[in-house]
Amino acid sequence: MAINFLSLIFVLLVAAAAVAWRAARRGARRAGLPAGRVIYNDTGAPVGRIAPVRLNARGERQEKPLLSHRHGLVGRPDYLVETDEGVVPVEAKSTKCPADGVPYESHVMQLACYCLLVEETTGASVPFGVIRYRDRELRVDYTDELHEALLALLGEMREARAAEDVHRSHDERARCAACSYRELCDESLAD
Ligand code: SF4
Repeated sequence: MAINFLSLIFVLLVAAAAVAWRAARRGARRAGLPAGRVIYNDTGAPVGRIAPVRLNARGERQEKPLLSHRHGLVGRPDYLVETDEGVVPVEAKSTKCPADGVPYESHVMQLACYCLLVEETTGASVPFGVIRYRDRELRVDYTDELHEALLALLGEMREARAAEDVHRSHDERARCAACSYRELCDESLAD
């Protein structure tokens, strides 16, 4: 009888675990995340695996930002997912995917920053990142070329910070239209 009772408990625990696992998988699929375990979530449901969850200025629980002193970088990716291939940062955008299916360079570089931050702060390998636009997700491989391009950009930004005048470095009207410095900038491409 005792054995049957223990067996029943065991079966119930396994069933509960299966239900929780399926719910987590469904949630991840809904969110457009790659298959794996969410280990960082900056969208309102902090996980606290990378570092203890903190309270922000509004008293809300929030993931601690990732910080690299070496590169002078700090940031909070929307999600980090631990997959079979490595840790994958996911950045959610409220806009639609560009019509040509090629992500904006600024979005790619932001994602690359998160890839670098993950490598620096966790030591995990980062195979790729995902930009989740409103209508679809784009995978961006974190290649050596992208890593080098990011380091070059960070170097340029450090130089620009020390310069008196900084000029526009792109021809993307949409980027200027969405820029919060537009009113102050005399090189804006947007009206
Ligand atoms: S408005 Fe000015 S600062 Fe903003 S993206 Fe355009 S050029 Fe850069």
